[in-house]
Amino acid sequence: MAWRRRPEKPCTIVARSIEVLGDLDPEECSSVCPTDALRFDAGRVVVEPGLCTVCLACMAICGPSRIRVVSDWVCPD
Ligand code: SF4
Repeated sequence: MAWRRRPEKPCTIVARSIEVLGDLDPEECSSVCPTDALRFDAGRVVVEPGLCTVCLACMAICGPSRIRVVSDWVCPD
């Protein structure tokens, strides 16, 4: 059996996109995101996938029918 060497750097999960599928309740959702990848600005929803850590709190709190985080793994070559 061939042993695979452990990669020097581990794979990381990233958000490819954050899709807002329905109306988000600011009272429910404005403070859920720990990184401000999902935030409200003057009442408008702002998403910034580059800040997202894919914790999925937004989907749990705001509802998976209203917001979806599309994630992917990035692994070193
Ligand atoms: S998955 Fe977590 S970090 Fe990403 S937008 Fe949702 S609450 Fe924010």
